[in-house]
Amino acid sequence: MIHLMKTAYGCEGHDSWARPGASGCADADRRWHGQCSRHPATTELHRTPRPAQPTTRPAAASEAVGIQYDSFGAPGMQMLCYLVPGPGGERERGSRRVNWVWYVNTHKRNLRRLLTGNSGRRFEYFLPPGELTPETTTEITTLANEMLPPQFTALVRLSNVFLQPVFDLAPTRMVADHIVLLGDAAGTVRPHTASGTSKALGDAAGLAQALNGWTPPDELPTRNLKDWEAQRLAYLLTVARSGIRLASQSFLGTTSGRQFLSE
Ligand SMILES: Cc1cc2nc3c(=O)[nH]c(=O)nc-3n(C[C@H](O)[C@H](O)[C@H](O)COP(=O)(O)OP(=O)(O)OC[C@H]3O[C@@H](n4cnc5c(N)ncnc54)[C@H](O)[C@@H]3O)c2cc1C
Repeated sequence: MIHLMKTAYGCEGHDSWARPGASGCADADRRWHGQCSRHPATTELHRTPRPAQPTTRPAAASEAVGIQYDSFGAPGMQMLCYLVPGPGGERERGSRRVNWVWYVNTHKRNLRRLLTGNSGRRFEYFLPPGELTPETTTEITTLANEMLPPQFTALVRLSNVFLQPVFDLAPTRMVADHIVLLGDAAGTVRPHTASGTSKALGDAAGLAQALNGWTPPDELPTRNLKDWEAQRLAYLLTVARSGIRLASQSFLGTTSGRQFLSE
């Protein structure tokens, strides 16, 4: 949240504090669409072999999975795995890291249990690494053993997994009385579009343009802001719809069909 000349710029992500004030939307408007994703914090498989897994060499696992990108799909789940640069931007073989994401359909009623951490703390939108309970860890590894190819199962076992439910945060308003929303605070898109970052950047660049030439204490350029809002909301809506379409093509985010991680 940034305050500038009596205007608050809500750019604090999907859990935005400013959003209800600007859009009139309560958090109840967050729509669960039946899908959980679990990612590891980008896992250094090349560099951090875990002694607890003596039978699987991490480097071997990442070599087996693929050099650039690999994926696996079954109704109600999808896993993607790809290489990303090392912590210092390294791109050489052996220095890069492996990132993966595993989308799994699950009923809303499972969320409370899945998002209650090992510490007993109840999380709303994100279960951080280290907070998976032993029961959830067992559920996840059992599901991996049952459903995933062995290379992906190895990745799951070797990773410090975290959990994130995927919600739709419907676009409503971006400009209200002295509040401007941008990025995830204005509305989220499904991860399948891989465009949350570029959308946030586009919002910010457009806002800078809308405010170009304006200097406090002049009145805010309301007309420019309204034009910016109309343009960015239209874009947000298009991307949000395409994310829903992409997900349903992969049988993700539906409450029909097989659901996982149920008690
Ligand atoms: C695991 C994961 C993988 C993703 N992968 C991709 C991908 O591959 N491609 C892609 O395009 N997008 C991806 N995204 C989505 C992308 O990260 C977001 O869409 C993007 O970061 C949104 O940017 P933002 O600036 O709106 O919000 P954020 O990046 O969430 O930034 C908000 C910032 O505000 C800070 N903040 C929160 N509250 C306050 C407050 N009250 N006061 C001050 N500061 C505050 C937060 O600490 C944070 O630094 C991914 C997201 C996740 C969680």
